[in-house]
Amino acid sequence: MTRVNRDDIEAALAKVIDEESGKDVVSAGIVQGLVVREGHVGFSLEVDPAKGAAKEPLRAACEAAAKKVPGVLSVTAVLTAHRGTAQAPARPGAHTHAQEAPRPPQGTVAIPGVKAILAVASGKGGVGKSTVAVNLALALAKLGRRVGLLDADIYGPSVPRMMGLTGKPESKDGKKLLPKEKYGIKTMSIGYLVNEDTPMIWRGPMVQSALTQMMSDVEWGELDVLIVDMPPGTGDAQLTMAQRVPLAGAIVVSTPQEIALIDARKGFAMFEKTHVPVFGIVENMAWFAVPGTGERSYIFGEGGARRMAAKLGCDFLGEIPLHMSIREKSDSGEPVVATAPESEEARPFIEIARRVGEHLDRAAGGGARKAPAISIED
Ligand code: ADP
Repeated sequence: MTRVNRDDIEAALAKVIDEESGKDVVSAGIVQGLVVREGHVGFSLEVDPAKGAAKEPLRAACEAAAKKVPGVLSVTAVLTAHRGTAQAPARPGAHTHAQEAPRPPQGTVAIPGVKAILAVASGKGGVGKSTVAVNLALALAKLGRRVGLLDADIYGPSVPRMMGLTGKPESKDGKKLLPKEKYGIKTMSIGYLVNEDTPMIWRGPMVQSALTQMMSDVEWGELDVLIVDMPPGTGDAQLTMAQRVPLAGAIVVSTPQEIALIDARKGFAMFEKTHVPVFGIVENMAWFAVPGTGERSYIFGEGGARRMAAKLGCDFLGEIPLHMSIREKSDSGEPVVATAPESEEARPFIEIARRVGEHLDRAAGGGARKAPAISIED
């Protein structure tokens, strides 16, 4: 297979002329963040915010030019409009799904009609953050709240799979997207908007664009709480979200292993730094529920997250066992709280939701930080 490198792509893009400046897109400095990974190419075109849509043909031309380079398997080019931002790229080189960012993130990200936004975060991936976010959202709805679930995990959106939802979201007016509804909650995921097979590079401004779109450009309607499934970790993208979204609170999910707890502590510190109240810590995979006997096997040690919560001075919201049916049901789009609410596996999620509900009520009563009007600088 032909190996393709940056120079090949740049050479191809240097033949695409930006009519406005009369220069090619490379010498005009429009091409930014070019990454080439094993035949997959991604870059953004930085354009004037006012001309976003008008530049679509240029974007398509760049994509087509890069695609013609021998050895290229996929190309994802997006329009960003963030000239002049001092923002450093978030995780340069990290690649995941694509997101078109046709509009600049302007103004506030606070959502009218949404009473509280709650982040579900984790210090590292694979600890069950999305499983908790989905089942917590469903449990809060069962307890009578109007709930939305925003999958902001740009590095690996799980909500479509866990909720059994696919396809592009619809729009009534061509401007605002309608959330997809299932099991009594409204959902929006970056996974509905991008092609799952397309690897992509997320740069800081693109993260903001995507997030702004999913918050402000979605008809959430009246919600008591919008749960945000955050990207795992505590990198730039996460920090940006914690800073830019007016969060009423956050919960941190961890497994009991020492290494996960160290990372969870970093998550806690990130929210402290950004003045977001941490409602508490959830311990997932707290023990292995031995099939048949129900016996608890503490494969990762016992009580680690509870001790950490005590040390950090935040609530311990509850523990969830490692249970076969939690995995099977999350992975088949039938989350336990929705499809087996009376089951033993659903119970911890409902208890956690009750505690989270108390925190939300307290926050609404003025006990917690008021959501500030956040403005994003262009
Ligand atoms: P994260 O969002 O932290 O990356 P996920 O929620 O996607 O993690 O979970 C990772 C995998 O572990 C998924 O296949 C999920 O079904 C499974 N899983 C999560 N929590 C549990 C649990 N308590 N019991 C069994 N499987 C679980």
